[in-house]
Amino acid sequence: MASIELRKIRKAFGAVEVIKGVDLEVRSGEFMVFVGPSGCGKSTLLRLISGLEDITSGEMLFDGKLVNALAPSKRGIAMVFQSYALYPHMTVYENMAFGLTLEKGHGKEEIRQRVEKAADMLQIRQYLDRLPKQLSGGQRQRVAIGRAITRDPKVFLFDEPLSNLDAALRVATRIEIAKLHESMNNVTMIYVTHDQVEAMTLADRICVLRDGVIEQVGTPMELYEKPNSVFVAGFIGSPK
Ligand code: ADP
Ligand code: MG
Repeated sequence: MASIELRKIRKAFGAVEVIKGVDLEVRSGEFMVFVGPSGCGKSTLLRLISGLEDITSGEMLFDGKLVNALAPSKRGIAMVFQSYALYPHMTVYENMAFGLTLEKGHGKEEIRQRVEKAADMLQIRQYLDRLPKQLSGGQRQRVAIGRAITRDPKVFLFDEPLSNLDAALRVATRIEIAKLHESMNNVTMIYVTHDQVEAMTLADRICVLRDGVIEQVGTPMELYEKPNSVFVAGFIGSPK
């Protein structure tokens, strides 16, 4: 588990600032959901937290320790994207084991156990010998999540992981992700979505972003009952 603290985080691409001073604390074990219109900076914020992009200014702390200069691979973070980029020539097993084989010090048996445990959690054990092209979209997304679980991250970042799935699968996979959060001793999760139902059902707290700044942070009930702007109300769907 890990807490994440963002202090006055800014990010500019060239002359264009897209994250404009974000202060946020994500508690250890919390399920935090980011919502906001397309282009408001949700994906950029996840990439900054994961270290895939460098912040322009500000401070980022994990468990109270400054990680501004820490390489992505040292942050204990796993990221799951909307497009589940699996290696097409590798089996499901190989896809899930690949990250661990890159890290030094994991024996073959340990890797097998970790992959099988993750596969059991996601009910994809029977597909371990298949190639990605032999799976449905929903199964592939489970493999992508399983690949992240295998590495035993302290923090999970999800960037609209369900938006390529059809409605029924979205619901099923959403429930799976909620179970995952409980069964993994409440690892810290940050989850980006534009789906209001996903946000309301998954979140411990929701962070509403607008044009690179935070509009409001609160529990689903707080945002629903006391939105501090029409903008927030519009996103959460309260009649205000
Ligand atoms: P969201 O995920 O909320 O839709 P993004 O974080 O992808 O938004 O993008 C926020 C803004 O930053 C957008 O205006 C986007 O065009 C811009 N942006 C994102 N990545 C880059 C980049 N690598 N170079 C330049 N501009 C970028
Ligand atoms: Mg995005």
